[in-house]
Amino acid sequence: MAGRLFIISGSSGVGKGTVIKEFLKNADNIYLSVSTTTRNPREGEVHGVNYFYVNKDDFKKAVENGDFLEWAEFGGNCYGTSRSAVEKTLKEGKNVLLEIEVQGAKQVKEKMPEAVTIFILPPSIEEIEKRLRGRGTETEEAIAKRLKAIKFESQEAQHYDYKVVNDLVERAADEISKIYEKHKG
Ligand code: 5GP
Repeated sequence: MAGRLFIISGSSGVGKGTVIKEFLKNADNIYLSVSTTTRNPREGEVHGVNYFYVNKDDFKKAVENGDFLEWAEFGGNCYGTSRSAVEKTLKEGKNVLLEIEVQGAKQVKEKMPEAVTIFILPPSIEEIEKRLRGRGTETEEAIAKRLKAIKFESQEAQHYDYKVVNDLVERAADEISKIYEKHKG
């Protein structure tokens, strides 16, 4: 039996990465897809682990080749999901998790309506601002851009199958585990 595709969205700064990591610790037979991006690696990020980092020309070529299941521009950079990697993993009967933003999620859901979509919501916008500033890696301009995107993205939550509020990491991860157990292939 083919695996099932799961999509998690939620703006950067809502602690999405931490929740996903916690969820994956306890979940079996699900694989996080490694995206391709034109943005620069952040400190500690590793090529092939966090992302495949490419330049704009190579990204464009991949788009033209039809290499991406979906792709989108976000915060001035491009991000895309490898079509072949996802299809291969699903065919092997493994479940796949995409951690992508809303435009990409929409593209995938249109092509693969059986995909299960989950949106992680922050407890409040003030909380996100605090987390983004606390990270200390972004400029004021970048933070303002992010906050605008978060407000826009939160409106998109209504189109997702499930909404999970990240009030506490363990609790949010547990809620995702329950959704996963219910739908996994
Ligand atoms: P970051 O730069 O903080 O790693 O990611 C920025 C945004 O891009 C996040 O919302 C993340 O979920 C999204 N993203 C990461 N990979 C992909 C992808 O392959 N496709 C799309 N559409 N969004 C992605």
